[in-house]
Amino acid sequence: MNLQSIVRKNIWNLQAYSSARDEFKGVALVALDANENPHSPKYNRYPDPRQLKVKLRLAELNKIDADCIFIGNGSDEAIDLSFRIFCEPAIDNVVIPVPTYGMYEVCANINNVECRKVLLNEDFTLDAKRVLDAVDEHTKLIFLCSPNNPSGNLFETSQMIEIIEKFKGIVIVDEAYIDFAAQESWVSMLDKYPNLIVLKTLSKAWGLAAIRLGMAFASAEIIGLFNKVKYPYNINQLTQEYVLERLEELEEKEEWVGMILDERENLSQKLKTYSFIKKVYPTDANYILIKTVDARHLYHFLTESGIVVRNRNSITLCEGCIRITVGTTAENKKLLSSLDQYAQSVAESNDKNEF
Ligand SMILES: *Cc1c(COP(=O)(O)O)cnc(C)c1O
Repeated sequence: MNLQSIVRKNIWNLQAYSSARDEFKGVALVALDANENPHSPKYNRYPDPRQLKVKLRLAELNKIDADCIFIGNGSDEAIDLSFRIFCEPAIDNVVIPVPTYGMYEVCANINNVECRKVLLNEDFTLDAKRVLDAVDEHTKLIFLCSPNNPSGNLFETSQMIEIIEKFKGIVIVDEAYIDFAAQESWVSMLDKYPNLIVLKTLSKAWGLAAIRLGMAFASAEIIGLFNKVKYPYNINQLTQEYVLERLEELEEKEEWVGMILDERENLSQKLKTYSFIKKVYPTDANYILIKTVDARHLYHFLTESGIVVRNRNSITLCEGCIRITVGTTAENKKLLSSLDQYAQSVAESNDKNEF
């Protein structure tokens, strides 16, 4: 792959900002290079702009070199930077199979890049041919969210490989929910596919949504472009320190994932027993998509009982659908008891209608 041919010319030629921390990397006895306030006892110094300690730990966990990792203020930063690196506004386009995560299209719109939406199949499986048919010479990115949000399913490997092998641009595989799926990460395929970017996040399985830390994994050459374009100090010191602490707790994360998978199975089985739920979709993520008889009615009923779910009724292919995050045992019990009440109220109003 000739990377230069698909990168925006201004980005390829860009001279990155060189910060004080970039230019001096030793141990400073007297630091007078960054106009910081020396009197403040804590957090007065700029953080490591390359986040090396965090990256070394992430490299270990993901079995990849540290220079193949970009860290952003959530995966959303990596998504936005992908547009800014590869897509010439008003000229280039991206292709996304829908329904999927809404940020890809929003980022396309913000960057004035055409977003070509291609339908998934009715059961939310991926049709590689349909995706590739939407590609033209200005298509720079294809986003594949697997497991897909909001449907919850992993895409079939063979369909993804067909897209990655035939497409001349960049394929971005979003693995926000990979920890909940019985499948290996695409990070292990980066050596084989130089046009691949894999996104992960600490917001879901790691339980750290509030600190905003997302990752992109790709060739060192692509990550070099992310490093040029990002804000110099995009990950603050508090986050870097706390992440290093939390990343030591791998076993705890795995325990949480185990609990969520047990609850997911239990909840899926129970949801199937309600007559107002027409379908409970199979899921590889920490949420369950259901198709209901009347999504708006059910959504409002649950909201009234203080339970917030995600109404996906107005999304392509998701008519009547609601997405439910798998919670704690206690939270799921509350949901099920509200659903029992809803079933009862539906039955009562049906009785009335018969007179
Ligand atoms: C939640 C989610 C993310 C995570 O975004 P962050 O900015 O890292 O919190 C990314 N992709 C998908 C599909 C998601 O659902």
